[in-house]
Amino acid sequence: MTTSPVLKPAIVWFRDDLRLRDNPALHAACQTGVPVICLYIHEPTGEGRRPGGAALWWLHGSLAALDADLRARGGQLHVLAGAAGEVLKTAVDKIDAGAVYWNRRYDPAGRDIDTQIKADLRARGVDAHSFNGSLLSEPWTISSQSGEPYRVFGAFWRAFQQRTVEPPLPAPPACAFAPLPEEAAQHFSYPTGLEPDPQRPDWAVAMRADWTRGEAAGLACLQDFLDEDLAGYADNRDRLDARTTSRLSPYLHAGNVSARQLWHALSARQHRGMAAGDRDAEKFRLELGWREFSYSLLYHCPSLHERNLQPDFDAMPWRRGHEDLGAWKKGMTGYPVVDAAMRQLWATGWMHNRARMIVASFLVKHLLIDWREGERWFWETLVDADPANNPASWQWVAGSGADAAPYFRIFNPVTQGEKFDPDGTFVKRWLPELGRLAAPFIHRPWTASSTQLAAAGIHLGKTYPFPIVDHKIARERALAAWRSLRS
Ligand code: FAD
Repeated sequence: MTTSPVLKPAIVWFRDDLRLRDNPALHAACQTGVPVICLYIHEPTGEGRRPGGAALWWLHGSLAALDADLRARGGQLHVLAGAAGEVLKTAVDKIDAGAVYWNRRYDPAGRDIDTQIKADLRARGVDAHSFNGSLLSEPWTISSQSGEPYRVFGAFWRAFQQRTVEPPLPAPPACAFAPLPEEAAQHFSYPTGLEPDPQRPDWAVAMRADWTRGEAAGLACLQDFLDEDLAGYADNRDRLDARTTSRLSPYLHAGNVSARQLWHALSARQHRGMAAGDRDAEKFRLELGWREFSYSLLYHCPSLHERNLQPDFDAMPWRRGHEDLGAWKKGMTGYPVVDAAMRQLWATGWMHNRARMIVASFLVKHLLIDWREGERWFWETLVDADPANNPASWQWVAGSGADAAPYFRIFNPVTQGEKFDPDGTFVKRWLPELGRLAAPFIHRPWTASSTQLAAAGIHLGKTYPFPIVDHKIARERALAAWRSLRS
């Protein structure tokens, strides 16, 4: 008589890949046919960078959505808390798991933790399998002929385009889910710091109105973008006064959708001969390319959020500018396009790319405040706050980064506003106190006459601030600071 072998369950450890479709770790685990237990480990303390408040809010909704999706298939997501290595070790023991599956992460602390965990698991005879679930291409696979990572986007992108992007996987067709044994469940308490929506104060009101979190919402957002906004993306994506971009960034960050899904959705559309021209699709792909480039920088420069990529910027004479920093965060600089963008960020957790460039340039150049201050504020307030895109983009704007905007290119917030929000639609939406001001003055209210201001119900210095810096003076100060680096 033969006895069938006992199938030890496998753990799928979800991280920033909170979806069922195109999830290589989940797919591989399900294909083995062994019972699968799905875990998420919240690490409230530890070595890595803690997610900011807005990203935690997004995470909470994404976990709830993934749990619901798993339950619809007979599974469940178990959310545990603690140091990942410890939690996994205990979970593997209590479950008597034979293998652990996960998709890779690329932040330095996460990578170190995962390397250690993989070694520990294997030493204990437990299989550990990791996959690429987040990027179009692994960051270590694209390097120059000399083997060095690319520091220039154009060269990186040309090398990238020689590669093939793997097609996305479907959701696992069938999966045998196992429950978390009672003794294991009892061992872990529900994590603190990952509570449902904020109550007092409820700072997420506008975020809830603006966003639906989770995989289904991410796929719907992608479909909307393909149907409505991809056509014209190349020409319109800098406009602030309408929805011109995909708004997929928080879904990509949490892994509710994958970059491969986006990439191949564009190809499928082109094959079906649908409206979007190659130019729009190519421009969108290029933006995904910047995401890949940022991850390549993070992989090769783990202290990306702390250290200038160009060391000569270490001598930059940054100002402390405590009050100015406060005015910038609150959207009270007196420059309407900067203030509207900063208030949109606070209310909704998101900001348009052009607006991010304008406000970042204003902080770093007009106010001469260290880019790390701005990066930290974005980290706390963005729903898409990302360990690669955020510091890489801040360094790009500051001029200290890879292939960065030259420091001497200083955005004029007035002309930027007039160019990308010509009627002031964007400004009026976020600065109701300027709502009755005529279009010619909306980006420069201090140039309106006292009669015009009074007619619009504006009292500069009371209902809306005067500019906290003069553009010309600030520009000269920034250029002098930059020249001091070169002398
Ligand atoms: P779309 O134009 O629809 O682009 C599609 C996707 O491509 C984005 O979701 C994003 O994943 C990627 N992408 C687009 N532009 C860039 C870019 N310049 N660099 C890297 N990837 C890009 N993006 C984040 O995801 N998280 C951040 O924390 C972040 N911080 C930023 C900070 C500053 C100062 C600046 C200037 C940019 C930052 N970006 C960040 C990049 C970019 O602004 C956002 O990705 C974009 O605005 C998100 O909107 P979208 O999804 O509608 O973009």
